[in-house]
Amino acid sequence: GRFDRRVVVNRPDVRGREGILQVHLRKIPVGPDVNVVTLAKATPGFSGADLANLVNEAALLAARRNQKVVNMAEFESSKDKVLMGAERKSMMITDEEKKVTAYHEGGHALLAAILPHADPVHKVTIIPRGMALGLTQQLPSEEKHNWTKEQLEDRIAVCMGGRIAEDLAFKAISTGASNDIEQATEMARRMVCEWGMSALGPLAYGKKDEAIFLGKEFGRSQDYSEATAIQIDEEVRRIVTTQFDRGNALLKERFADLTTIAEALLEHESLDGTQILQIVRGEKMNLPPVPPPAPPPVVAETEAEKPEVIAPFLGPMPEPKLS
Ligand code: ZN
Repeated sequence: GRFDRRVVVNRPDVRGREGILQVHLRKIPVGPDVNVVTLAKATPGFSGADLANLVNEAALLAARRNQKVVNMAEFESSKDKVLMGAERKSMMITDEEKKVTAYHEGGHALLAAILPHADPVHKVTIIPRGMALGLTQQLPSEEKHNWTKEQLEDRIAVCMGGRIAEDLAFKAISTGASNDIEQATEMARRMVCEWGMSALGPLAYGKKDEAIFLGKEFGRSQDYSEATAIQIDEEVRRIVTTQFDRGNALLKERFADLTTIAEALLEHESLDGTQILQIVRGEKMNLPPVPPPAPPPVVAETEAEKPEVIAPFLGPMPEPKLS
């Protein structure tokens, strides 16, 4: 999650990444659709080495695809691999699971697209990667270091979108939302305990981090009364359920759009932010371009295991990322 386990390492900011990318891009033939600004925005938390790796990966992929130049598609694919692990197309997924994932991701994406303070959707996919069956990636229009209460509330609602969509579509819920729930709860707790964004006022409740190193059992040492502890729990619950209800009302109202997104995902596996916006605006969706030819079978499924493509991404993952 982006709010916990923050490692203090100076990593390049968006302008820094743009500069680093420019340097590496000079060494390879780049296609006309490659946008270095978009790439820089989409790679928060990447170190210089990660960025070098990203460019290298993209070049290798273009070579495997017998292309003369490296296009944005290869950069996207290699960025996702560095960020989230290799695609697992061989993973056995039932049609039913795929459908649930399509609605789940569709719920995240649709809420992210319609909530006023949420970061715009960059991409939504139901291609399994690493441990996740699908993924919705949002792209902040600028690098954020400070969050408003409204932005956090919208983020919590977006987190809840997966679970809500499953429930609306199938009248059944799955374990797929566990990470979303964890993220949302953690954000709400920090709103109450650290950021003074609840009925409990602008006070700090509980000391964190240091306590962990002292071998304390809990992440936060309790420096408040039992009565306050109960109030904190109530506030956390209130914040999360309020956003759940808000997301629920919106997705109910836009269930037809949700279905359109889910069906498009089942057909095309990935949609980009523009396509999601087209659905939201009631426009006809530009269908995704035909995916580039698959790499030769020698590397198709084992890409991830090849040592040269393993990109240890040790830093925090500050990008809003929901699975
Ligand atoms: Zn999710």
